[in-house]
Amino acid sequence: MTLKFKNRIAWFNTIAAAASTLLVFAAVYGVVHHTAYQHLDNDIREEQEDVFENLHFQGDSIVLRESVEWTEKEHQQVEVNPIFLQIADLENKPVFLSSNLKNERLWCDVSLPDPGFFNRQFDGKQIRLGQFPIRTNTGKIVGQLSVGVSLVESALLLHNLLITLLIAFPLLTLIVFLASSFAASRGIAPIHQLIKTAQNIDDQTIGTRLPLPARQDELYRLATTINELLTRIESSLSREKQVTANISHELRTPLAGIRGTLEVLLRKPREPEQYAQKIEYVLQETDRLNKLLEQLLHLSRLDAGAVPSHLDTIDLQAFVANILEKWSPIVAEKQTSVDCNIPSSATVQADAGLLEIIVGNLLSNALKYGNQGGKIHISWSDAAKTLTFEDDGPGISAEQLPFIFDRFYRTDASRNVRIPGTGIGLAIAKKLADLQRIKMQATSEPGKGAHFILQF
Ligand code: ADP
Repeated sequence: MTLKFKNRIAWFNTIAAAASTLLVFAAVYGVVHHTAYQHLDNDIREEQEDVFENLHFQGDSIVLRESVEWTEKEHQQVEVNPIFLQIADLENKPVFLSSNLKNERLWCDVSLPDPGFFNRQFDGKQIRLGQFPIRTNTGKIVGQLSVGVSLVESALLLHNLLITLLIAFPLLTLIVFLASSFAASRGIAPIHQLIKTAQNIDDQTIGTRLPLPARQDELYRLATTINELLTRIESSLSREKQVTANISHELRTPLAGIRGTLEVLLRKPREPEQYAQKIEYVLQETDRLNKLLEQLLHLSRLDAGAVPSHLDTIDLQAFVANILEKWSPIVAEKQTSVDCNIPSSATVQADAGLLEIIVGNLLSNALKYGNQGGKIHISWSDAAKTLTFEDDGPGISAEQLPFIFDRFYRTDASRNVRIPGTGIGLAIAKKLADLQRIKMQATSEPGKGAHFILQF
């Protein structure tokens, strides 16, 4: 059985309250019990002192002074708070019996060396009995004094108290449970409100936020945390939508181009050169599509964490020179001068294959977005352990800079000048850098080119 949260709180409160109540009740009962018996025992002692004052000895025999007067004075009152007196010698023969004893005898242990208090039955009723050895002036025990007082009233008082406590305990426990349950349900009412609102949030209503409680307590923090989480989910959903829209756009554009070209070709017979030209265009667009799909595949493999990275010690100067060699036809075509300032001592720890993709991407972007006949500067800082790619192209505006590592993001400038691209290259490069713990950043002053920095 699973208890509701409010009932669990109520149970904890009730158990704590019941344990405290039990302790208090036990203490009350104990104190009353002790006081009642102490009171009776004090009465008995007073009586004993009274009797001992009136005792006199003749040898080992006990003689009562003022016996008659004393008997009349106190022990005629049989019914009202009776005190029973009995003096017995060492053979348990009575020397004195108060008249309220009638024909009965009080319990007596003649061998008792010290005073003692006992609960005994007398004439069918409970009595408190004090027994005191009677000693002569020399200290010799010559008899026993027994003083009995009725226990009925005290026993009744204690019995009534016990019954009252036993009835009060479950009642109090029940009241505490109901009160705690009510207080707990009031306390968690705002949680129900949060649950209700949260249940209604779906893809369409992801902009909804939980109402914040008036007091800045734990519930307030919970609602704020959930609201922050919703904000993150909302922006991730909107990025996902944007990525899907971008993929569709990137796929549709070349497909539309291919289809349009083929339709035009079919409309009427053409010269062989025209066919060759259109087929060339279709092939270019197919290549573009192919590249896009390859990059998407690459990204999804990276997302799944499928690309292993083994760190090697790389001689950076030779490594970059080798990549530049591969790109030399495009560098020549763009008439770009590449100035590489990497000392022969520069080494880094990286996965050579993955680093080649990153460097290739930065070089290709610098060539693509840099000016025709411009300059690319590649440099290494040994102090900062950074490899920097600088170009002299249009650069990237401060507003667009934070997004260039997002998938499919392309700056307005690069879209407008129709530089071919998919907006995936930097996303892949960034992901590969992260995999090797290489920090990748971009800075730019619009009009003065872009700087891409790899920090190892
Ligand atoms: P792609 O070049 O295929 O569009 P990237 O992911 O490599 O995709 O780059 C994302 C965007 O960042 C580019 O579309 C471009 O707008 C901008 N960008 C990247 N490198 C540069 C650069 N060197 N100069 C100016 N803009 C750049």
